[in-house]
Amino acid sequence: MTGARRLIHAVDIDEDDMFIELHGSLQQVICLHCHAKTPRTHIQTELIRLNPRWAPLLSLDEKELKMNADGDVDLRASLLDTRDSHEYRTFRYPPCPACLNRYGSSSILQVDADGAWKGGTVGIIKPAVIFFGENVSSEMRQLVNNIIDASDQMLIIGTTLAVLSAQRLVRTMKSQGKRIAVLTSGYVRNEETLVHDNDIRIWWKSSDVLKHISYFRKIPP
Ligand SMILES: [Zn+2]
Repeated sequence: MTGARRLIHAVDIDEDDMFIELHGSLQQVICLHCHAKTPRTHIQTELIRLNPRWAPLLSLDEKELKMNADGDVDLRASLLDTRDSHEYRTFRYPPCPACLNRYGSSSILQVDADGAWKGGTVGIIKPAVIFFGENVSSEMRQLVNNIIDASDQMLIIGTTLAVLSAQRLVRTMKSQGKRIAVLTSGYVRNEETLVHDNDIRIWWKSSDVLKHISYFRKIPP
């Protein structure tokens, strides 16, 4: 769970109204052809169905896997059953449901007998996150810039601001002469030029602070 999502849960805000995931979300996958989004839960069910040999690995929980922020997972050799083979080229995935609906099994979208993507030029899916080398869409940039223009302060929690698209938001805020507060126990990229005397810098671990906010909310008034 990201720091921002943890905060939203802690203060009990309606996620749909208040939550913008600048770099997308692993809760969905997106089609590279038609850009339709599909819930990740549906794709996970399909991945397990199409890859019975891999199913035990797909079912491991977060504690057993080292997952990176972009969704990459390191699979330790000890997790693999050595009696079985786990060839990456045998891994199958479902096509985009919207493309499958539209094109069926055709020359531009071929599926195998179980419905896994086999070839063609449409229906290829990927996690709906901005990968390294991709750009945040202009619509998203505009939406976030509008929010910054309408805000008078910014609270920054649990981030290094190492990703430039995130750092740019803070720079925009500062260029408008607005205050920021930064809460994190760690390094912040370009902190010396971002945080000025009238800003607030709190060197606390954001996960500890959010845990306490959750705790206080549970105490009846
Ligand atoms: Zn599609």
